[in-house]
Order: sequence, then C-alpha cells, then structure tokens
Amino acid sequence: MSQTRTEISSLGEFGLIQRINKGITPNLPDTVTGIGDDAAVIDLGEEFGLLSTDLLLEGVHFDLSFFPLKHLGYKSVAVNVSDIAAMNGKPHQVTIGIALSNRFSVEAVDEFYEGVKLACKDFNVDLVGGDTTSSRSGLIISVNIFGRVAKDKITYRHGARAGDLLCVTGDLGGAYLGLQLLEREKQVYLANPNMQPELDGMDYVIQRQLRPEARMDVIYEIAEAGVLPTSMIDLSDGLASDLLHICAQSGVGAVVFEEKLPIDDQSFLAATELKLSPITAALNGGEDYELLFTVPQSAYDLIKNNPKISFVGYITDVANEVLLHTNGDNRIPITAQGWQQ
Ligand code: ADP
Ligand code: MG
Repeated sequence: MSQTRTEISSLGEFGLIQRINKGITPNLPDTVTGIGDDAAVIDLGEEFGLLSTDLLLEGVHFDLSFFPLKHLGYKSVAVNVSDIAAMNGKPHQVTIGIALSNRFSVEAVDEFYEGVKLACKDFNVDLVGGDTTSSRSGLIISVNIFGRVAKDKITYRHGARAGDLLCVTGDLGGAYLGLQLLEREKQVYLANPNMQPELDGMDYVIQRQLRPEARMDVIYEIAEAGVLPTSMIDLSDGLASDLLHICAQSGVGAVVFEEKLPIDDQSFLAATELKLSPITAALNGGEDYELLFTVPQSAYDLIKNNPKISFVGYITDVANEVLLHTNGDNRIPITAQGWQQ
C-alpha cells in the first residue's frame, strides 16, 4: 500500500466508482457490460441477463424511528426492480442479505419480510436466497436482483442522440420532501414527545419516501405502444445527477424546461411549508425511483397521451452541457449533487 492517504470525499461516489472500474476488464465472453450502467449485462444466448445490487444501511438510507419495517422490506425490493426496469428488462429473482443487531425481534424480522413478500408479489419476482448475520452497527440490507431482457430491447445509459426527446415518468421531488417532513417531525417529537405529528394532507409525499414503486408499469406500456427508448436510467440520485450520467455516457448534452418538470401539488405544498424550492427538490431530491429516458422524436405521437409520461426537454449535441431553461427564459447549467461522503 502506498503512503499517501486520499480522502474519499475528494473523489465523491462517482469518482470512486470510476477508480474501482479502472483496469477491470472482463475475463469471460458472456460478460457484455460490467460496471457503469443500472445493471450488469450477461449474454445468456437467446437473451440478456441483468444483474444489479443495492445496499441499504440504517442511519444512512433509512431511520427506523419513522421507517416502518414492512415498508423497508418493500422498498428494498422495489429499488432493485427499478434498476432492472432502467435497462428495459423484466425482474425475475432476488436474494437478500440482512445483518441484524440484538435490538431486533423475530416479529420485527417477520414484518420486514411481509414487505419483501408484498413487493415480490407486486413485481412478480421470486425471493430465492440470501444471507443472515449479526450486526454491531444497526440494520444492513443487501439485495441482489436478476432480470432478463430481449437482446434487441435492452436500453443502456449510453444511447441518447441529439434531437431525442427527454421523458420522465410520474412526478419528481416528492420522496425528498417526504423525508424532510419526517425528519422535521422526528426533531419536534424528540424535543417534546407530547407534540402530535403535523403530517395531515402530506400522505402522498410521505408515501413517496416510504413506499416507492419501480415503474415496471411504464416499461410495459411503452413496449405496448411500440416505443423503444434510446437511453434510460432510474432516478435514484435526482434528475440532475442521473441526466448527467446519460449525457456523459452518450456524449451529448440536454436542455430541461423548468415549466415542464412534473411536480405534484402536494410537493409544492410541502416545499412551501419546509421553505425549500420545489424545483431544487425535483432536480436534486433523489429516491423518486421514476424513469428518465430518451426517445426519438418519431415516438412522440405514440406516447404523448400517456399521463404517466412528461416530456421535459431534449438532447443536444453539446457534450456534457446540461442546461435548465428557466421560466424567466434564462439557461443555467445543471450540476450534480449525488452522494458525497
Ligand atoms: P444505481 O444508482 O443505478 O444503483 P450506482 O450509481 O450505485 O448505480 O452505480 C453505478 C455503477 O457502478 C453500477 O454499474 C454499479 O454496479 C457500479 N458500482 C457501484 N459501486 C461499485 C463497487 N463498489 N464495485 C464495483 N462496481 C460498483
Ligand atoms: Mg439505477
């Protein structure tokens, strides 16, 4: 080991992954795509296999003081299904590793798996294995997922082309705003346990945080409409950072129209109450697990009437220049937030 010590924060998450990826070349002929997309791609002969993994850590990704275990079980599966959806694939099997401290009872584990089973039913996947161990630092959940996709239907992050339309499913910013509300209520409760939570009328944004859905419904609907996206990613880190991935990997730029960003009325209300910008929440919030994808202009007529899809901008040929066209007709660069240590 060298003597120099570099702080991980100096690289950030993406820099670190790039560094890990350096010098890794596939040894096997069936490894089609390794590190860098929402799932790894494996050649199964007739079709491609998809493999993805996600870690969820107590205190980093969830706070058990307001996150019900059943919802956590559901979310653990849903966020992995979302990565398979982002490759235009169909999820099949999951394995789940859990590390538990003695703080957890058998009933608590049951509750977690109730959520897992519900998600397996909703997304039609099978739980086929995992690992169980003890933990000294809270609950750790590790999920692996296997999916399949026809070879001519796979969608990578790198296929966006200048002139393509930029589409987003559902609405943005809700999950982040829901989390901010839950954290605020926790602080209020800690300061005075007699205070009642003030979450009336905020059920939608709370649900966006606690029970995200993978958008398999949209995957099936666009296929039905005869549309194959040119690129796709799921929105785990926020539109800004995830769009930058599409642009970087496709060698293109993008323009996003502020007025086209899909934001639910309740997200506007929550943002006002929290004194946060709903636009910033939509761009940088993360955890919405919606899909961001590009389609050729010719696909517009085929999906324009789908209420689950918003057309938020277009792809340009200016590599890595990602701009927000504001309501005041200014164009400002969109920068990534993502994960920082
Ligand atoms: P996502 O948000 O879609 O889960 P990530 O940003 O977590 O994707 O990861 C981007 C890519 O980097 C993926 O291909 C993922 O498999 C890979 N990756 C992340 N962490 C590591 C790691 N520690 N070692 C190898 N590959 C990694
Ligand atoms: Mg992803």
